[in-house]
Amino acid sequence: MPAGPGNASAAPDTVTDRLVEANERYASAFTDPGMDARPVLHVAVVACMDARLDLHDALGLSLGDCHTIRNAGGVVTDDVIRSLTISQRALGTRSVVLIHHTNCGLESLTEDFRHDLEMEVGQRPAWAVEAFRDVDQDVRQSMQRVRTSPFLLHTDDVRGFVFDVKTGLLREVDPA
Ligand SMILES: [Zn+2]
Repeated sequence: MPAGPGNASAAPDTVTDRLVEANERYASAFTDPGMDARPVLHVAVVACMDARLDLHDALGLSLGDCHTIRNAGGVVTDDVIRSLTISQRALGTRSVVLIHHTNCGLESLTEDFRHDLEMEVGQRPAWAVEAFRDVDQDVRQSMQRVRTSPFLLHTDDVRGFVFDVKTGLLREVDPA
């Protein structure tokens, strides 16, 4: 229930209410850093949406440092290429960091997920599930998709990593 004049003092009753309340505290301490939209470190990070991966803390990033592009698996889909293209051509980034991780939810799925979905809703999704078994191979495939994209200006500094959700450490994946 939205907090209106009649229930402004009521305890938050949904997770979104909690987030909105946290934002009010955040904004009360916020001062305009006066930045423009171009990332200070000229880097875009593509990562899985996994809740255990705090990109800013794990990579020592501060507000304004980078673009973060996240989806299930950190897969380089057409829409990730869209974001990277805008990131590089309109907002000046040149490096790309790809981060997948151990114990990813996509390792327990198969492309049967699409089939089951089609059976359930009567329509086949246009997208691939992008399930995988070998996380290193999945990172290499993502690096390859970035490096071979005709839309990107900068494909010379593309590196891929696996984040270990148990130790917090990144392990770099050899592109070869
Ligand atoms: Zn994941």
